[in-house]
Amino acid sequence: MSYPKGKVARSILPHYFGHPLVKGVFHGGCIARGKQSSFRASAHAHGREGDKFFGWICYRAGWKIDLEMLALHEIAHLIAGVGHTDEWRRAVIAIGGTLDPAPSLKSYQKRVRPR
Ligand SMILES: [Zn+2]
Ligand SMILES: [Zn+2]
Repeated sequence: MSYPKGKVARSILPHYFGHPLVKGVFHGGCIARGKQSSFRASAHAHGREGDKFFGWICYRAGWKIDLEMLALHEIAHLIAGVGHTDEWRRAVIAIGGTLDPAPSLKSYQKRVRPR
């Protein structure tokens, strides 16, 4: 699917963005700074309490909107907040996501240090 830049219409978004905490998807930058703005990761979720854009998920590249496991990773941040915490891990699993490596995702399994 090729998505227009800016706010992506809900009607063309994949079903997994139907989670009630998702307010919308922004393509081509960050919704807070507009199209062509840049950020480090492939995508990020506005999951901080008090964020004016809470519930938005921003993507640099539109084709990544079709990566379900990446989307669920970000949706879990809306549920559990910023950071890859145990609470966030539980949220990922609860909505059918993965902690294992997937397209555009590394492993988020809790690392156990060998003694
Ligand atoms: Zn953003
Ligand atoms: Zn994350």
